[in-house]
Amino acid sequence: MKKDSPVKSILKWLNHYFIFFLLVAFVITCCTMLFVSTLRDTLNITLTSANISTAAKITFLNVALLSLIFTVFDSIRRKLTVERPVKRITDAAEKIIKGDFSVRVKPQSKFGVDETFNLVIDCFNKMAEELSSVETLRTDFIANVSHEMKTPLAVMQNYGTLLQAPDLSEEKRIEYAKGVTDGSRRMADMMTNILKLNRLENQQIFPETTEFDLGEQLCECLLQYENVWEKQKIDIETDIAENVKVKADAELLSHVWNNLFSNAFKFTSSGGTVTVSLTATEHHAIVKVTDTGCGMTPEVGAHIFEKFYQGDTSHSVQGNGLGLALVKRVIDIMQGEIGVESVVGKGSTFTVRIRRV
Ligand code: ADP
Repeated sequence: MKKDSPVKSILKWLNHYFIFFLLVAFVITCCTMLFVSTLRDTLNITLTSANISTAAKITFLNVALLSLIFTVFDSIRRKLTVERPVKRITDAAEKIIKGDFSVRVKPQSKFGVDETFNLVIDCFNKMAEELSSVETLRTDFIANVSHEMKTPLAVMQNYGTLLQAPDLSEEKRIEYAKGVTDGSRRMADMMTNILKLNRLENQQIFPETTEFDLGEQLCECLLQYENVWEKQKIDIETDIAENVKVKADAELLSHVWNNLFSNAFKFTSSGGTVTVSLTATEHHAIVKVTDTGCGMTPEVGAHIFEKFYQGDTSHSVQGNGLGLALVKRVIDIMQGEIGVESVVGKGSTFTVRIRRV
């Protein structure tokens, strides 16, 4: 906080003194006039101008002295109860401006202190806490993106070097070129997901609601994975209620189903089953995506909706840990709910509940 110059401080002090002087003068004049006039009438005293002049001089000195005492007393009171807490808050705010988000302000001791300051301090500390968690998220995000980009880049560099060998067989050339393409596709997928998440988080996408048949949308999304389930020999079971109309953003919702289906197929090995069901009440639609895959522990389950979290690292080449973060964001925007039940080695069920209108 900038300190006042000495001249400014003196002027401020004189200003306070003048206000007290006016107040005290007004109060004392009123009281004296009342007292003197009552006394004069009762005792029949005649006041001469000499009497009045002496009394006025003494009263003036009295007012000046009282105003001085009040001003000094008020200055001390203001310093202790207003200026000190304000200085502590502004000092802390300056530290935050300089990037130190760890700063917190201690609440004032209750004695003689305006409680409003403790409310301000409480809000200030909450704001500092929020800012520091946003900062942690930002730095974590940058670290995660850099880490996720390093792996495919290293893979692509290796394949690029291998491709430079002069006597390469046609088979090897195709294999290495595929490695480069896979790596670049992985990076492109990650960038697409980051951009989508960013747009969703900044609310640049506002749900464009239309009425559509949810069962039809689920079937369309599922059919896109026909090649996958045939190749991996996974059985598909569906139990989709007919004519379940929902009013929602169809494109956003299709991201949800695509992510849940691709995970179900990714984490289920050959011979397993993926089941999709749709039920509805008057106001809600409930979609369950169940697989008989590897499942996950409760510890993993608690983090899967976080950005870049990958519980199962054996499949990490096929993802970047952003899929479920995106799903959660979409469901939050739609004011729906998503949950998971899972048993390691047995499989997982993701349940999504959205409002129909
Ligand atoms: P990724 O693209 O890496 O799969 P996600 O955000 O989609 O990222 O998933 C995060 C983590 O959640 C995965 O790494 C995995 O550990 C867990 N997970 C998601 N779906 C399933 C599932 N159907 N079965 C088992 N684990 C799953």
